Amino acid sequence: MSKILLHSISQLYQVSDSQEIFKAGENMQHTCLKENAYLIIENEHIIEIGNMADLGERQKENLAESIDCTGRIVLPGFVDSHTHLVFPKTREEEYLFKIQGMTYEEIAQKGGGILNSARAVTHISEEELLLSSLERCKNVLKTGTTTLEIKSGYGLSLAGELKLLRVANALKKHTSQTIKTTFLGAHAIPLAYKSQREKYIDLVCEEMIPQVAEENLADFIDVFCETGFFTQAETEKILLKGAEYHLPAKIHVNQLDFSGGVQLGTRMGAISVDHLERIADEDIFSLQERQKNSPNDCTVPTLLPSCSFFLRDPYAPARKLIAAGLPVCLATDYNPGSSPSGSMAFVMSLACTYMRMLPTEALSAMTLNGAFALRLSEKIGSIEVGKQADIIITKPLQHLARIPYSFGENLIERVICKGV
Ligand SMILES: [Zn+2]
Repeated sequence: MSKILLHSISQLYQVSDSQEIFKAGENMQHTCLKENAYLIIENEHIIEIGNMADLGERQKENLAESIDCTGRIVLPGFVDSHTHLVFPKTREEEYLFKIQGMTYEEIAQKGGGILNSARAVTHISEEELLLSSLERCKNVLKTGTTTLEIKSGYGLSLAGELKLLRVANALKKHTSQTIKTTFLGAHAIPLAYKSQREKYIDLVCEEMIPQVAEENLADFIDVFCETGFFTQAETEKILLKGAEYHLPAKIHVNQLDFSGGVQLGTRMGAISVDHLERIADEDIFSLQERQKNSPNDCTVPTLLPSCSFFLRDPYAPARKLIAAGLPVCLATDYNPGSSPSGSMAFVMSLACTYMRMLPTEALSAMTLNGAFALRLSEKIGSIEVGKQADIIITKPLQHLARIPYSFGENLIERVICKGV
């Protein structure tokens, strides 16, 4: 048995103290702040939270460690609910094209972008892919990410997609982070299928999805529903096939254009619709309707501001979504093409500076709401008794706002993941 005490915590942001499964609208800024608090972890779980005045000798018995958190802020571990962290190589050569003015779509048309990564997947071994992905997991753990969702999508063949998902699952044995996996075979149409796209969609539906399900490699299914990638009708076909295999949907929508994917997602009961750099009033209305009709299973609007930053794209209208009462979520979209950073603290800076979210709203979006976007919020995402002990201890700080304010600076002193 391992018991850890965190004492003299200056500011403990629980995010929730009433077992909420997400925070929506104006409730996002209420993050249950306790001052001068203590917290006890036993094995993997949080077993007690209280005020320092109530900390007695009983709580100090049999401690494996006592951590002095004087002057520090304690937060729930960050939940990054949208990443493509398993990828074969970085693509800084395309970054140079971008600097010289080429667009994401132009690079894709030249065989760059996703197709560039797909070619590299065929040449890399599972061992090499595991090593580089594990390195990325370790790096983001140091910056506070205790839970990750990882998508496939750079395979674009049965063997390639299975390789990526096997590696994403293998990571679970090598890191204490909680990992959820998503099958994204419909990320792009591979070159070989350019003039016969329906054949690729058949491959996704008839071979990839059944095999992924058979090997139990994915928790969710995703489609890149964007102009130049997959149409609404194709997205629907693929998601329906996923539903047959009990794979709930998460969709990439409205990054490059108004794809119609938000309404498709709400109609199909998607867990989340991700990106939303462009969003129409009808899309917001459909998210509200879904939330009204399925309050415990609504569709989460997930925003990915590091993608907007890197591509010099518009930022998603977070204030509009919050004003509409929705449970906004933030994630990194960590990938080699449009967001080569897994830093949730940087996401927080962008969300506050460019999307005008309050630091407390951003905190809810990247902890409890991220957990809900993975349907994990009963276990993680807030600091509450009974929850998994995924905890961030900052360096000495006076205000939560210092984290987004001092962008690029790592203000995290220690991360406890599953109680370790
Ligand atoms: Zn993505």
